[in-house]
Amino acid sequence: MRLRLLFIFCVLIAAAALGWVFSRASRDDGPAKVSVWAENIDDLEQCCRIKSAKASLYDAYAATARREKKANAMCLFQALAASERIHEANCAEALRLLGGQYTPSLRRTADTTGTTARQVARAIVVERKLHDREAGEMIRRAMEKHNRYAARILTWTAASDLKHLILLEHYQSNAGHFPPDRGYAVCPHCGNTFDTAYCDPYCPFCMTADEEFVRYL
Ligand SMILES: [Zn+2]
Repeated sequence: MRLRLLFIFCVLIAAAALGWVFSRASRDDGPAKVSVWAENIDDLEQCCRIKSAKASLYDAYAATARREKKANAMCLFQALAASERIHEANCAEALRLLGGQYTPSLRRTADTTGTTARQVARAIVVERKLHDREAGEMIRRAMEKHNRYAARILTWTAASDLKHLILLEHYQSNAGHFPPDRGYAVCPHCGNTFDTAYCDPYCPFCMTADEEFVRYL
């Protein structure tokens, strides 16, 4: 009888010791695990916020051009705003697939004063600054992690930003001298933007046929 009690006592002690070891092990996981994609998720989120801000800015610039009856500038800014929103949606989808979350900001963009000519000049400054500073590093970080999906989305946005810059500079140097049927087209999948006078039959970034392009004429 005494031996049986001793045996039960030992079993209870052993069970308690195991429970303590298990609870310590559960608590000592160390710092919270950081996603292997954390850096790429941060980059994609930053890209989303930049795109969102630029889309709002270009919407406001399109409204200025409408008031000034500058149809070509209005179409250009409408196309740029649409392109930026496609980029924002693509980056948001990419970061969600990597385990991140994106909540669109309600922040309004700042300086929307001035004439269309001044706003075109300001847009050129913005596009130049962002293209030089951000895009290459984000793509490099995605490629370092062998994340070709994030790299492709970021490459689409960077290449489109360069197209935006070219279109803005072209407008600036030809303002007021466009044929009335001249406009802009946007690929609905990757946001690539075209002058309709030089539209490819397929989007060279994502191979979408030009019948699917959204036109701003
Ligand atoms: Zn495309």
